[in-house]
Amino acid sequence: MDHFLYRDGVLHAEDVPLPQIAQAVGTPFYCYSTATLTRHFKLFDEALEGVDHLVCYAMKANSNQAVLKLIAGLGAGVDVVSGGEYARAKAAGFAGDKIVFSGVGKTREEMRAALEGGIRQFNLESEPEMLALNEVALSLGKIAPVTIRVNPDVDAKTHEKIATGKSENKFGIPIARAKEVYAEAAALKGLDVVGIDVHIGSQLTDLEPFAMAYRKVAELTETLRAEGHNIRRLDLGGGLGIPYERSNEAPPLPVEYGAMVKEVLGHLNCEIEIEPGRLIAGNAGILVSGVIYVKSGEGRDFLILDAAMNDLVRPAMYGAYHDIVPVIEAKAGTEQARYDIVGPVCESGDTFAKQRDMPPVGPGDLVAFRSAGAYGAVMSSEYNTRPLIPEVLVHEDQFAVIRARPTFDEIINRDTIPEWL
Ligand SMILES: *Cc1c(COP(=O)(O)O)cnc(C)c1O
Repeated sequence: MDHFLYRDGVLHAEDVPLPQIAQAVGTPFYCYSTATLTRHFKLFDEALEGVDHLVCYAMKANSNQAVLKLIAGLGAGVDVVSGGEYARAKAAGFAGDKIVFSGVGKTREEMRAALEGGIRQFNLESEPEMLALNEVALSLGKIAPVTIRVNPDVDAKTHEKIATGKSENKFGIPIARAKEVYAEAAALKGLDVVGIDVHIGSQLTDLEPFAMAYRKVAELTETLRAEGHNIRRLDLGGGLGIPYERSNEAPPLPVEYGAMVKEVLGHLNCEIEIEPGRLIAGNAGILVSGVIYVKSGEGRDFLILDAAMNDLVRPAMYGAYHDIVPVIEAKAGTEQARYDIVGPVCESGDTFAKQRDMPPVGPGDLVAFRSAGAYGAVMSSEYNTRPLIPEVLVHEDQFAVIRARPTFDEIINRDTIPEWL
């Protein structure tokens, strides 16, 4: 459930009609709902009630400072994957001991910054990285808390570009080598091995791949404990999917995921961490765009929007589906039109949907892309010198711009001309 609903025929974000925001900030823009972000964090937190746990929001899904501050205020932890994200977490008010650092290529500078600023744990992904962190920690006179990410070799049954738990993927160490690598880590004086980490992919719509991976983690926990390792924390990653096509998708709910986690891992008495990104932010955001033209082609009509692939790249990059709805609700009984829905960028890949049935709209009308709160704004670019679009946060009947649209001059003046020109 989210908080983007039609009221009196007009799509609202909580209590704010979207045309009012469009009037104030222009189109296209992203719009996020405070109530939905809050609700989704709480669903996970409640799903793990009864076990010691921390929900660490994976900020790569949506790292706007206002979103982070809201989520920090709910008591969440946070998962970061770069020095920049670490700096964002600190700036948004996350305490160091609530920040988990993931990622396959952490640099020594990133390690140093996190050790100095405070860190809950590093999730290590390789032996070279382990040795580097050990050296950095010792050079600072610190001991780095770590888990090691294991690759359980399970098929997450998701899009190939967001599957991470097969042996051919670049992530983690093969679970078959875990015993050996944990022994090496335990011998390093700069590291404190606190647990095990696993993350098998994103947009999973079935619990079984998670359960398969977590059963392997349970077994590994017992093996490592028998070897004398004090395994006390399990980081289970993120990845629970959301319904992008509402009319025919119903992925598992956080409460079902939580019940499975407790069943598979509850007996181990470990602290549980999870790192959801998409499920917290995805349905908490929409992208609102204006129709520029409707163009008739050969046997098809193109709906040309002012949003493009640089604003929302998921359809071009992953072939992703987004529901696209008119902001002014069609009257009951209106016959559907069929469009190829495209943006103005000079690439055929700039296509949001082909042969999509939706109520007819025309120039000047507004449409909303649903489920655009995760991997939307964060993946956008200024390709074609199209300014990054504004982000707006709604709270009940209030709204605020949380990232403004830059002017053309601001964009141009970021470049500098060498003096010989
Ligand atoms: C991307 C990522 C997540 C979040 O994945 P979602 O599908 O957005 O929940 C969590 N942990 C790690 C290590 C990731 O790379």
